[in-house]
Amino acid sequence: MKRTVDCANMEQNGLIPNKKQRLIAKNPVTVVLGTQWGDEGKGKIVDMIASDADICCRCQGGNNAGHTVVVKEKMYDFHILPSGIVNPDCIAVIGNGVVVHLPDLFEEIEKNVQKGLEDWENRLIISDRAHLVFDIHQIVDGIQESGRGKHVIGTTKKGIGPTYSCKATRNGLRMCDLLGDFTLFSDKYQKLIDYYTSHHPDITVNVEEDLKKLKVYRERVSPLVRDTVPFLHKAIKDGKHILIEGAQSTILDIDFGLYPFVTSSNCSVGGVCTGLGIPPHVLGEVYGVVKAYLTRVGQGGFPTELMDETGDLLINRGHEYGVTTGRKRRVGWLDMVMLNFSNMISGFTGIAITKLDILDIFNEIKIGIGYCLNGKKLESFPALAEDLKHVTVEYITLPGWNLDTSKARSFSNLPPNAQAYVMKIQELMNVPVKWIGVGQARESIIEVAQI
Ligand code: GDP
Repeated sequence: MKRTVDCANMEQNGLIPNKKQRLIAKNPVTVVLGTQWGDEGKGKIVDMIASDADICCRCQGGNNAGHTVVVKEKMYDFHILPSGIVNPDCIAVIGNGVVVHLPDLFEEIEKNVQKGLEDWENRLIISDRAHLVFDIHQIVDGIQESGRGKHVIGTTKKGIGPTYSCKATRNGLRMCDLLGDFTLFSDKYQKLIDYYTSHHPDITVNVEEDLKKLKVYRERVSPLVRDTVPFLHKAIKDGKHILIEGAQSTILDIDFGLYPFVTSSNCSVGGVCTGLGIPPHVLGEVYGVVKAYLTRVGQGGFPTELMDETGDLLINRGHEYGVTTGRKRRVGWLDMVMLNFSNMISGFTGIAITKLDILDIFNEIKIGIGYCLNGKKLESFPALAEDLKHVTVEYITLPGWNLDTSKARSFSNLPPNAQAYVMKIQELMNVPVKWIGVGQARESIIEVAQI
């Protein structure tokens, strides 16, 4: 006898796991990380998972990241706030590994409140160990970047690098300093300013004025600050689903990125544990976001770079222009040496391939699969930025599909050559493809059961 199976009913009755249970099947913490040079389209993947998350966290970086999240026709703009905060049932955590500029934080909150963000006061928690970014860090960031002449790193001048420098120099100030004895805080602040003005005599700072303003921010931020370590541990014990949103990307990681063209924090999986104080065994899914081709901003080697008509097509179709600078991003073919290196570091349990639709018009598509330097095959992605400039790339060439993929909502809807491209990436990375992005909209995504 043939039986019909009503999956929705079974989910409701708890007979088969629902989407949320499936997501947290292994462990309660899900991580989303970039695998390339950033701008992979992490926002949409985070947004999709965040709708099921109880807690959403940032673990590194500062307001140098950027996500746009569209919910019910309202467009929110997040730089330091975890984007899961748009979900009214979600608690947002800014971890100890994040650096926070209080005026920028409150400006971001206010802008998003005007767009419709509600009840954030009861849903935003900031670690008492998070370091503070001060205006002087932002000034110094600008001075250091202009001092690099044509060797600019491409920092966002938000003071993130100088703040992490202070953290390592041990003269940084944290949320707990601000909320503690204000006289003690004022002394430490004065010492920090003295440190910087001794190195940069041209900078003038009105310490008294600064302290007055900081006292006001102290009152505003105080209800949000707590020790996030026990909070997260209790949440993990209670089986809450926790989503961690990586900012920037593996090849911008301070340790594993193409130093010195890197950001000042760990954007690979290690930063998740150190930036939140959670042990590695609680991590479940670690999703890597892979743009179907490659882009980067700023200087430095780019072995698979396309500086021809194909490159121009990728820039225009992919709208590959910097969000704040408006400058063209550099573009190229997918780089497997880079992706396999990212995967060695973070151990992805699944990948999301984004912007597949941008490749819809090409007759053939290449993938870089190996590097040679001075006639020798390299084992992996080089440490030295100069070496990356001189490698030659071994490619494989796949046929393009020359068909619109933007309407596809299942893997079988994709043209066979697009399927073959996705399967090739899965094979070369040896990581299952979980999602395929085929457009900007929230719904322009294919959830892949198993290929
Ligand atoms: P992030 O820096 O990794 O967070 O990148 P964002 O999430 O800000 O995404 C960068 C841009 O790519 C945004 O304009 C997205 O709308 C766009 N995007 C993301 N996924 C896709 C996709 O699958 N197709 C297309 N055409 N655009 C996408």
